[in-house]
Amino acid sequence: MSALANARPIVRHIRSTHEFDRLMRKHSQTTGLPVIVDFYSDGCGPCRMIAPIFKKLAQEVGGKAVFVKVDTNALYELSSRYGVRSLPTFKFFLGGRKVHEFSGAGEQQLRHFTQDIIQKAEWENVMLPMENLLSYYGKQDASKTPTDVEKVYTKCVDQVKDENPAKLCVGAVARNLAKSLKKKYGSAPEFEKRFLPEEPSANEQSGDDKKAGGAGGSKKTNNKGNSDQPNLHLATKEQLLAELENRLDAERDAQVEDEEDDNAEFDHGWTPSPFPERVTIIGGGPAGLSAAIYAARAGLKPVVVAPPLGGQLQGKGVDVENYPGLFNVTGPAVVSLMRQQAIAYGATFEADVVVGIDVSERPLKVKTNSSVIETHSIIVATGAESNWLNVKGEYELRGGGVSSCATCDGHIYRGKHVLVVGGGDTAMEDALVLARTSESVTVIHRRDTFRASKILAQRVAEHPSISIKWNTVVAEILGKPLSLGTSDGDNVDLDAPAEKVVTGAVLKDIYTGEETTIDADAVFVAIGHTPTTSFLEGIVEFNPKHAGYVLTQGTSTKTSVPGIFACGDVADSIYRQAITSAGSGAAAALDAERWLSEEGLGNEESDFEAELLAELLENDGRRGADEYNVYEEAGGRVSGMKESTGAEL
Ligand SMILES: Cc1cc2nc3c(=O)[nH]c(=O)nc-3n(C[C@H](O)[C@H](O)[C@H](O)COP(=O)(O)OP(=O)(O)OC[C@H]3O[C@@H](n4cnc5c(N)ncnc54)[C@H](O)[C@@H]3O)c2cc1C
Repeated sequence: MSALANARPIVRHIRSTHEFDRLMRKHSQTTGLPVIVDFYSDGCGPCRMIAPIFKKLAQEVGGKAVFVKVDTNALYELSSRYGVRSLPTFKFFLGGRKVHEFSGAGEQQLRHFTQDIIQKAEWENVMLPMENLLSYYGKQDASKTPTDVEKVYTKCVDQVKDENPAKLCVGAVARNLAKSLKKKYGSAPEFEKRFLPEEPSANEQSGDDKKAGGAGGSKKTNNKGNSDQPNLHLATKEQLLAELENRLDAERDAQVEDEEDDNAEFDHGWTPSPFPERVTIIGGGPAGLSAAIYAARAGLKPVVVAPPLGGQLQGKGVDVENYPGLFNVTGPAVVSLMRQQAIAYGATFEADVVVGIDVSERPLKVKTNSSVIETHSIIVATGAESNWLNVKGEYELRGGGVSSCATCDGHIYRGKHVLVVGGGDTAMEDALVLARTSESVTVIHRRDTFRASKILAQRVAEHPSISIKWNTVVAEILGKPLSLGTSDGDNVDLDAPAEKVVTGAVLKDIYTGEETTIDADAVFVAIGHTPTTSFLEGIVEFNPKHAGYVLTQGTSTKTSVPGIFACGDVADSIYRQAITSAGSGAAAALDAERWLSEEGLGNEESDFEAELLAELLENDGRRGADEYNVYEEAGGRVSGMKESTGAEL
């Protein structure tokens, strides 16, 4: 392993999509190293389990591969570009192409695919220069003219699938060509290495600046005759930009090496304690995280239970423009900021789904797939999910024109043609909102009358920009791919599924079955929301007027069960916005804090510690401190502890 390979950061944390693309381009074009990507989330248990193994493996293989981590919460767009649906997901890239992938914390698979891609990279690290091919044919088949040889060479170049700006005969294609020639003539032409290990610079040799080469700097492209160091005075704009990128990379790598322990991001995971929690918050969207910030700042050390991916804003790749104080921030980034703020004040996270709540005795119990959390109070903030049509094209075009929130995304389609699907109040409101800015709105409804209130339905029917298609359903949503080219003209084909945008829909008449196509730039699905409340069935009262929504008392967030509060979309069938959810999350934390203090449920853990300390100091005079046994001494003070722990003492 070269000195420089040793200098590479063990695992690099990617901070932006641009950084990721740059890194992929660099290793595809100048080092030939495989890139192994861990898509993780800081709240996911299996991600936590595999993280040290990933780091160890990176150390073991040294400079033969580049190991990077992508936080799916912070880089949601990048994760969805690669179709990450569960965590952790590992993807293995070579030459910008995805070669392997798997999800889950499987050490064996991780090791197997890592070894495999390293071998593949080494096998493909060959180049067949034109001059070698000419001299080969000169010896083997003198009848071939230089033009014939050039044709063979060009065919090889054309078949190379990786990015190949220098138009070289390289990799597996060069190997296959050599194999065919060997079969025909009995011997193969001579290869050269495509990527060469880079010589450590003077600084690196002296150890002055080990980081200068940065990630993947252990190899360089085999460009015969080119000087390694560009003369910046004579360089073209492209060379200067390339040099700038190299330096940025080196700088970034140097920063990574200075970063603290890789596992620091997992430090805020929830761990069971002998005492019940004071507040457990179910849900990690704006409502739950706002409640967590307030509860944490009140010293309640809340636990937030939520799966690593989820919440409505995670699906909003464009900016959230109506949250006061936030500019140029996408939905996932807003959630990530809220989460960081909650962590900063001491909230902990259990990355799981709540499957049930036990209210038969106090403390209450929150059950997930992998844990039981005993808690004095609960804040439910599990949001509401939009109902979808489940037709072809709908899922992959979400974010590309398919939306369930006209208030949120309508302005993007200013001056465009849009469809609204539905016949209830929400569909009518959406159509009226969109008609203010869009060129035309077509409402698609499966019946011949609207279910919506009369006044709204009438306004829609009379609006000059709105037309209605009765007895009609959407059979398919149509789209076209968007090119993934970057603004500087680079086209990075990273084997990513192309982003798509809506171009129209196929409509079907429910009586005749006749299908027609309609052009449109967006489809707004307004067929209702389903609050995520199945785990609360039979426990709290639901809103009799809005099925599935948790009923709260008056203007408070109290539910029918003392100690259980509800906030955000799960209890709000009307406003359903990030700002209103965050506001009610704050209210829920304040309500819970007041309820805990009215019930006299203080901080049992610190009370217990204070009592023990007092006894310890008292006992210090009687016997040696090293004889002290906490468990012996806990005797009369187990009432605040969990039943299980109390029984053990
Ligand atoms: C595409 C789209 C775009 C939007 N754009 C905007 C916008 O621009 N501005 C705006 O103000 N609003 C917007 N909204 C609405 C906004 O996202 C919601 O009003 C807001 O997110 C509601 O917050 P919440 O915390 O109540 O619920 P959610 O954000 O839905 O969060 C619910 C949380 O609960 C978790 N959860 C669910 N079930 C369980 C369970 N059983 N156990 C544990 N956890 C669970 C979820 O994983 C998630 O973390 C948009 C909505 C959509 C769908």
